[in-house]
Amino acid sequence: MNIIDQCVAQGVPFAREYGGSLANRSFGGAQVSRTFYARGQTGQQLLLGAYQALERQVHAGTVTMIPRTEMLDLIVIDGQARGIVARNLVDGELSVHIADAVILASGGYGNVYYLSTNARGSNATAIWRAYKRGALFANPCFTQIHPTCIPVSGDYQSKLTLMSESLRNDGRIWVPKMKGDRRSPNQIPEDERDYYLERRYPRFGNLVPRDVASRNAKQVCDEDRGVGKSGLGVYLDFSDAISRFGENIIRDRYGNLFDMYQRITDEDPYKGPMRIYPAIHYTMGGLWVDYQLQSTIPGLFVLGEANFSDHGANRLGASALMQGLADGYFIIPYTVGNYLAANRFARVDESQQEIQNTVNTVRESINKLLSIRGERTVDSFHRALGKIVWESCGMTRTARGLDTAVGEIRALREEFWQNVTVPGSSGDLNQNLEKAGRVADFFELAELMCIDARERNESCGGHFREESQTAEGEALRDDEHYSYVAAWGYRGTGEPPELTKELLEFRNLHPSQRSYK
Ligand SMILES: Cc1cc2nc3c(=O)[nH]c(=O)nc-3n(C[C@H](O)[C@H](O)[C@H](O)COP(=O)(O)OP(=O)(O)OC[C@H]3O[C@@H](n4cnc5c(N)ncnc54)[C@H](O)[C@@H]3O)c2cc1C
Repeated sequence: MNIIDQCVAQGVPFAREYGGSLANRSFGGAQVSRTFYARGQTGQQLLLGAYQALERQVHAGTVTMIPRTEMLDLIVIDGQARGIVARNLVDGELSVHIADAVILASGGYGNVYYLSTNARGSNATAIWRAYKRGALFANPCFTQIHPTCIPVSGDYQSKLTLMSESLRNDGRIWVPKMKGDRRSPNQIPEDERDYYLERRYPRFGNLVPRDVASRNAKQVCDEDRGVGKSGLGVYLDFSDAISRFGENIIRDRYGNLFDMYQRITDEDPYKGPMRIYPAIHYTMGGLWVDYQLQSTIPGLFVLGEANFSDHGANRLGASALMQGLADGYFIIPYTVGNYLAANRFARVDESQQEIQNTVNTVRESINKLLSIRGERTVDSFHRALGKIVWESCGMTRTARGLDTAVGEIRALREEFWQNVTVPGSSGDLNQNLEKAGRVADFFELAELMCIDARERNESCGGHFREESQTAEGEALRDDEHYSYVAAWGYRGTGEPPELTKELLEFRNLHPSQRSYK
């Protein structure tokens, strides 16, 4: 509640009951209504609140904002994080920022899959370069695939759109019972529709957790029962809810989402069902941190989606922002203070060798990318990489598929360094150069994801190994052998990473096989 109060104080308009108390609704994976929300735009409203609060501090002079600047490396001196090297995205100038501690809150790495619900600019460069400077990277294969996104419409699409999970409160998910049925949804009679989530999971129905809903959508599409031109889609149907509550109530609840869907697909969801398909949405893995949110490099703190903490192999809806807010409001103000109070910091000078070496590493990698002058665009490489990761390290994974993927990623990475084309120079606005650096990092991260997924021979949460499933096709855990955080350490490009296992100890509640039947 403290988090919600803080956000309300920042101006976030959380939904309220008529009497003024905060309203709740249910989300995937929960049978009770316990999620605070702001219509279908909770995330966006929280962002607006956070921006306003930040701008207030900028105005008050307590925060210095350096916009349009990208962190490209971490400065480590005598084992401590002592600053960053950044590049001005407008004039290309490299700058050194010296500090006694560094906090990374650079978000998740979902864009490794190329198509995702994340903003196009989201990337893994900050955490990846910190990994290469010695921070451990935990559970990279734990990624979340969200079931309710607008399906891919063509090869040249650059982004996917999330339809809020809240839609599953009133929308019913179905596909035709018959394989290859290409009739329009309104021509398919009720008894020829398969409400597969309600059928398989009578207790949770359409509100099963995201990983379960996504895998089931994939399964019915693999059976040639998918809908839409590509066959990679399922229906999310509001006709029952509209007949029960009336169109106005549904418009009140989800009008903004319906409008968005109509603008993107040119289909009216009040008249026929929406088409949805799973897409990568969130990454539970990230830099390893302790309870102080400190990474394995002293003085490097990691917050929000960039770290691995809190969610394990599965994140339930609405908890990402709660984690980010708790990290920022309640943990880091104390733990950074403790770190600063408990350590001594030698004077650091920009001309110092370690700093100059870090700047040179950044400069060399920029120059290398610009000097290749090959024939294939950065986006083309990124798209090809995303396809490999999506097919092999997406909704389901197999040992064989992952082994093949590692080989394919390495071959594609080699081609990237021989044949990528990055036009322009380093001294001005050059978005191709920015993307090239990020894609170079995604190549290495993608390989680590596959290695991690290969090593974990069990299914758990979003990590579904086909070899490890129950007779009913559900995820089969193996707590005896895999009850640990897999924290990977960098040992040099081309060298296999080093695995450290942080054993998990459960004293009060013990993990058990999930069932939503
Ligand atoms: C469409 C969508 C809807 C969502 N809805 C919800 C919801 O309703 N509830 C919920 O709990 N969660 C939701 N999530 C998840 C949640 O929004 C994210 O997990 C959360 O925003 C992560 O916050 P963050 O501050 O850790 O990272 P981000 O919000 O990703 O912010 C990271 C920032 O760092 C910047 N950055 C990255 N790398 C660098 C670099 N090298 N140098 C400089 N800057 C850099 C990025 O540009 C970005 O501004 C949603 C996510 C999406 C994509």
